[in-house]
Amino acid sequence: MSYSIREMRALFSFLPALFSLTFPVVMSAEKPFIFEDTPGKLPKNVVPTDYSIRIVPNIDKFAFTGAETVKVKVRSPVRQLVLNALELEIVDASLDGKALPKSAIKIDKEKELLTLALPSELPPGDHTLALSFSGKINQQGQGLFYVHYQEQGSGAQKIMLGTQFEATDARRFFPCWDEPAFRARFQLTALVPENWLAVSNMPIASEKKIAGGKEVRFAATPPMSSYLNVFVAGELDLIESRVGPTQIRVIATKGKAELGRYALEVTAQILQYYNDYFGVPYPLPKLDQIALPGGFGGAMENWGGITYYESALLFDPKNSSTETKQNIYEVLAHEMAHQWFGDLVTMAWWDNLWLNEGFASWMGTKCTAHFNPQWEVWLRRESPRDPTRRVGIAKEAAMEGDARSTTHPIQQLIATEAEANSAFDDITYKKRSVVSADVGKFSWRRCFPRWNSPVHHRPQVLELDHRGFVERAFGSFKETGRRDRCRLDAADRISNRKS
Ligand SMILES: [Zn+2]
Repeated sequence: MSYSIREMRALFSFLPALFSLTFPVVMSAEKPFIFEDTPGKLPKNVVPTDYSIRIVPNIDKFAFTGAETVKVKVRSPVRQLVLNALELEIVDASLDGKALPKSAIKIDKEKELLTLALPSELPPGDHTLALSFSGKINQQGQGLFYVHYQEQGSGAQKIMLGTQFEATDARRFFPCWDEPAFRARFQLTALVPENWLAVSNMPIASEKKIAGGKEVRFAATPPMSSYLNVFVAGELDLIESRVGPTQIRVIATKGKAELGRYALEVTAQILQYYNDYFGVPYPLPKLDQIALPGGFGGAMENWGGITYYESALLFDPKNSSTETKQNIYEVLAHEMAHQWFGDLVTMAWWDNLWLNEGFASWMGTKCTAHFNPQWEVWLRRESPRDPTRRVGIAKEAAMEGDARSTTHPIQQLIATEAEANSAFDDITYKKRSVVSADVGKFSWRRCFPRWNSPVHHRPQVLELDHRGFVERAFGSFKETGRRDRCRLDAADRISNRKS
């Protein structure tokens, strides 16, 4: 996610001096990823594998109804199922085709948990949970939200729908195991007005007219974390192109799609670059860049359907500034880096958000600099601070944030949803990015091709996470560093620092 558009300009090139700053880092405690040991509230003995979700928005009432079936693997006998739900009303629940009584359904608003008490012990194995529910269409970018806007050309007042789930708001859209380690396949179906275009992570698998509009069924995603789901629908236009097997599209409200021409060209360029760099081709059949005329700021890296506040994506050659053009490039490069680093491979828990954002920021800047050397993006990161503006000053903004009593370790403990959501701050993006940048200069390049080499590039790459990556990255870092004392020292200063 980019927590603001400005953040994208604010990448980082802190230098070794940073390592001498006193901040507690506990990377040496980083262990290989073990699902059972991953932090979080949800019990690990029930794991969802496949969701099938059907949503029916009622736009006039800013509400929706939904139904889902979730295939779960029960790993040890349980007497209850515990998952996340927030501001949802559960209408009914059944397990393996048998309805659960209303009294078995409990929602804990504070903990954002839905608990289903089972009539008898559920044995290990495959089971199917079915739920029907209702929820709200919000005004702000949390869960499913609506945006009012004036249509380009006609000037008509229109409404459209979008979603924003990171960090913990997928649970406002459908009951789910809403912690990043619970990766599953998601198959979404939605009912929308007939003249609307509906977009999600995957292409449309089928569409049929029904009373009140059309039912759009999307193909199922590969296993992924819940916060990466997306659903956008409205009177939309698009322009499209293709990079190898990948369909790329820029989608905007009617009359604005052509302003996505620059973004479409840039998407093709960046996609090719990342396909080569990561050594793993972009794994989904399509990549949509979606411009929203409101609802949230910045951009969000939903897998296969990245959402942007429209000024972060659309470029008008007649009226937009060169600065806008650079911003668009950098935001696109950042969010597209997440398609691999964040989406294909996801941090197991929010304490490693710094890796997610730090790497995407470093990679995005690297890619931007590669194709646009005239912009001198790395140099600009070093430019001294203009006290009247908060632009192009990542280094000083990070130091400023770090000097306050509210600063926190680069890798911080995240225990609650509120902490996960408030982790998207200057320290996360700038200071963390800065450290990633420096580590990256030495390490990522060596590590990534190796990590994603054909030996590792099997389906299990999807199961790797940032914890595993840290271990590999630092393992690789130290290994290569033996030939270079300086690098080894730098690695040790990071990985051995104790709070
Ligand atoms: Zn990001």
